[in-house]
Amino acid sequence: MKNKDILRNIPSVDKVLNWNEIKESLKILGQNHVTEIIRDNIEQYRKRLLAGEKLDLSHLKKAILFEIQDLISPYFCYAVNALGIVLHTGLGRAPFNKRIAEVVHDMSRGYSRLQIDEEGKRADRYRKINRLLQILTGAEAGIIVNNNAAATMLILNAMAKGKEVIVSRGQLIEIGGAYRIPDIMAQSGATMHEIGTTNRTHLKDYAGAINENTGAILRVHQSNYRIIGFTKEVSLEELVPLARENNIPVIDDLGSGALIDFSIYGLPKEPMVQESIAAGADVVCFSGDKLIGGPQCGIIIGKKEYIEKIKKNPLTRALRCDKLTNAVLEATLQTFLLKEEDLLLNHPVLGILLKPLDEIKKHANRCARALKASFGSSLRVSVKPGVSEIGGGSLSTEQLPTFLVAVQSVDLPIDDLARALRLFHKPVYGRVAEDTLLLDFRTVLKGEEKVILEAFKTVLKPI
Ligand SMILES: *Cc1c(COP(=O)(O)O)cnc(C)c1O
Repeated sequence: MKNKDILRNIPSVDKVLNWNEIKESLKILGQNHVTEIIRDNIEQYRKRLLAGEKLDLSHLKKAILFEIQDLISPYFCYAVNALGIVLHTGLGRAPFNKRIAEVVHDMSRGYSRLQIDEEGKRADRYRKINRLLQILTGAEAGIIVNNNAAATMLILNAMAKGKEVIVSRGQLIEIGGAYRIPDIMAQSGATMHEIGTTNRTHLKDYAGAINENTGAILRVHQSNYRIIGFTKEVSLEELVPLARENNIPVIDDLGSGALIDFSIYGLPKEPMVQESIAAGADVVCFSGDKLIGGPQCGIIIGKKEYIEKIKKNPLTRALRCDKLTNAVLEATLQTFLLKEEDLLLNHPVLGILLKPLDEIKKHANRCARALKASFGSSLRVSVKPGVSEIGGGSLSTEQLPTFLVAVQSVDLPIDDLARALRLFHKPVYGRVAEDTLLLDFRTVLKGEEKVILEAFKTVLKPI
């Protein structure tokens, strides 16, 4: 077909508005919005036709109806993490549980108490979180902002704008998503004063860098990588006396921020928040949704004078957390008040990290049996050992043992099966390797084998 003939076959917006299925959607949606969707899709259709694709009006209709459906359905929804990455940013990092769901539900019924006191006067939004942080970490004060990237930038801006900040070359990290220490530093208005080398930084390097324009010393947890071999970093215990002598504050960006000692449970030790405070760090920051297991936020704790200074900084208002974040973080921090055995039972991230291997195996076996019973020989199902990752830059070089349900379909290519499971209304995310779909049961929560089975039943015909 010539271009002219192709273009003649493209319907007008008005004509499409008169198609029966479109008229149906006009019963619920505003005509101006539907018109916009139609116009965009006609434009796409035109481009694809001109590019030589063989399309007809049914493609256009399908595309429009698909987009309308997509726009009115939730993208943000419950999902099953069978990827085995405990803190997966694509899957919302820390998983929540029923307790958190109840808090969110309660806060979402109408108005909610956020920052008002018993006299009905405006109160300090940070008061309750501040108190919990004092009790849990031993810090003098604490506040929260949008995330830990925001926390780092805010701290540097409030404490060292126009001044130098000393940082070891071994700690100039990139976390991903454009979070790089040199860039954050530049954005904050502080000047980076690099010291040491990639693998070795000494106390004398810090001492030699201090001058009248030094605003702070920054330490950054390496989080997602390790330097091994001939290495040296200066501990807080060594650094704090030097900083005190020179009247310079020490900032400690812990990244994950553990509140419990993971080494007791056979995992590598992640730097603990309490230890940084005890060692004399003036300001410490960490993520709310990594090992803390709460909502996305950045937690800042430390000496009262610095927290007060940070609170007065205009960026604090710009980076302020909303009511749901505050409520979910409160509930998360409250679990850390519990006795340790109850904490482990009530804290999803800790529960997953410390889940006994035989429990994972039993769970995987249960799912495998159910799949076999439902699909017989049309599915090849086995259970095998594997490794999970912690993710989120936490304990990240550590691998956790796990069990995987390995699945192959006799009829369906494995990528199609994996994709179909991701398109289920409770999406199931597994990984494909060597022509097999692998479902990692460390991150599959209790009862979710039923969701997985349901998802399979919408894709494959049960026997
Ligand atoms: C993860 C991480 C950040 C970024 O935290 P977000 O809460 O994701 O913004 C900053 N610093 C370190 C050391 C980290 O590990």
